[in-house]
Amino acid sequence: MGEKKSIELPFSITVRDLAIKLDASPIQVIKELMSNGVMANINQLVDYDTAAIVASGLGFEVAQEELEQEEKKEEGKLADWKMVIDREDHKNLVKRPPVVTILGHVDHGKTTLLDAIRHTDVAGGEAGGITQHIGAYQVEHKGHLITFLDTPGHAAFTAMRARGAQGADIVILVVAANDGVMPQTKEAAAHAKAAQVPIIVAMNKIDRPDANPDFVKKQLADIDLVPEDYDGNTMVIPVSAKQKTGIDDLLEAITLVAESTSIMANPLGQKLGSVIEAELDKAKGVITTLLVQNGTLQMGDVVVAGTAFGKIKAMFDFKGKPIRSAGPSTPVSVMGLNDVPSAGNVFTVVPTERDARAQVEASKAASAVVYQAPKTTLEDIFKQIKDGAARELNLIIKADVQGSLEPIVTSLQDQNKGPIKINILHSTTGNITESDILLASASGAIVIGFNVTADTSARRLAETEGVSIRLYSIIYRLFEDVEKALKGMLAPEFKEEIIGQANVMAIFNIGKLGNIAGCRVTTGEVRRNAKMRVMRGGKVVHEGEVASLKHEKDDVKEVRQGFDCGIALKNFSEFQQGDTLVSYTVEKVGQLKSGLLE
Ligand code: GDP
Repeated sequence: MGEKKSIELPFSITVRDLAIKLDASPIQVIKELMSNGVMANINQLVDYDTAAIVASGLGFEVAQEELEQEEKKEEGKLADWKMVIDREDHKNLVKRPPVVTILGHVDHGKTTLLDAIRHTDVAGGEAGGITQHIGAYQVEHKGHLITFLDTPGHAAFTAMRARGAQGADIVILVVAANDGVMPQTKEAAAHAKAAQVPIIVAMNKIDRPDANPDFVKKQLADIDLVPEDYDGNTMVIPVSAKQKTGIDDLLEAITLVAESTSIMANPLGQKLGSVIEAELDKAKGVITTLLVQNGTLQMGDVVVAGTAFGKIKAMFDFKGKPIRSAGPSTPVSVMGLNDVPSAGNVFTVVPTERDARAQVEASKAASAVVYQAPKTTLEDIFKQIKDGAARELNLIIKADVQGSLEPIVTSLQDQNKGPIKINILHSTTGNITESDILLASASGAIVIGFNVTADTSARRLAETEGVSIRLYSIIYRLFEDVEKALKGMLAPEFKEEIIGQANVMAIFNIGKLGNIAGCRVTTGEVRRNAKMRVMRGGKVVHEGEVASLKHEKDDVKEVRQGFDCGIALKNFSEFQQGDTLVSYTVEKVGQLKSGLLE
């Protein structure tokens, strides 16, 4: 190859522009990004470091462009909200109302609490005046506005995150004082933590005679939400959504947290936000609820959200009042889009409908060809670790019982000494559910199951989201894999699952066929159609296929723990008494097959 071409790249650049600069097709760039573990569509911004890797991968000598030139070029481009805020002129940034979402276990009172808050102090007075539900509303507390998202539950929250939108600034975790911390409470806490969003606990149903706040506080401390009166820093506010008590304290707590966090936006800056919900109304057309996150949205603006776009023909606030403009953190319902966007889509504003159409066409074309769900397999992460691109391994751990969950979590945390950090985002007992997959997808995590299975719906979602589920029934295999991933030694593509072990008790010679090992199955089961490894003194002596498996005199498919059997292997007959035979399956990663764990 000749001399390298040199190129200057900006602080951040869209995939499309990067392709143009590199004189490559967007597909080439996207492929190069993918091989470096970055999933991006044609309109997405990548930062300088990422762009530089792609450029040098395509044979360029790269340098960073001067800041001033770049700012002009990037104006009006589709971008991630946080990146936009980062690039805003800091002197124009102002505080904006916090966006709050309510999460918690079913029946702990999320909906009732949202109603209670709505009626306590509707911004602008007239309590109970809201007839419309647009998916979000605002209340005023001592002169501070607070925006509440009206879809409780972490599925919506995490779906937004999975699509790249930051759902909320603050999470209110509702815990019923009589029921305490439940599985979904833990899950919701894990989702909020993964999103690095501060949590305030609303201890609800405090009016109930069986309320036990002290017990619940201890439970909260156990899941790392240590209440302030236990020397922790989690605010726990007793409320009764039903009797509407404590609501003011809760709003006060929100204001306090909002003040201590920098929740900023530039009302004059690039217009951008998220789709909260959208529906097709027979009479009015597409009605979309948008949450403005930066800039000020105006009547007549041309909005692009996913593959939907259009000029805003009418705009209403959450009370249904027509408005002409909406600044940061304001939820609005707009009419004029040509299609129904998905909740969680990021929206931007472009100069003309022509621009909007071009942008949508381009992203449709790009996604039709190359869109793949982001892959988060242990192998990918291992590759990123090896390439120095990943500094942490995010895990979600599910196990059958608390007794096995705890040692797994503790041991994994013990492995946390190296340069790569293990983050356990969520660990609980029970099968792997859709919610786990959503969390994994949004956080680039891997789901590890010990003696559990994955629900059918979870498997399906994992497939479309490209999330890796790894199931184990033997604890040290689990540790081995994680350790291998951390050290960058994990064999790609195939995953081994040990299903059982047997001890060789005696050896029988049966002439031409060679030796048969008389064995007792000590753990799990051994299978005729599985692979077999012969271990001696901790070393592998042979690996291969089973020639015959007999129980008593019969040929059998499997023999379970505690039973005796005769095993003959293909191409191996040098068994010795005391050898361990390990029965294992090998399967392609990502393809979950039914097996012992079903
Ligand atoms: P969600 O599933 O978390 O949205 O829970 P809901 O808001 O639907 O509430 C579940 C049940 O708990 C309903 O029957 C409510 O009336 C009741 N509930 C909610 N808040 C309170 C409360 O503060 N006190 C009492 N006693 N009951 C409540």
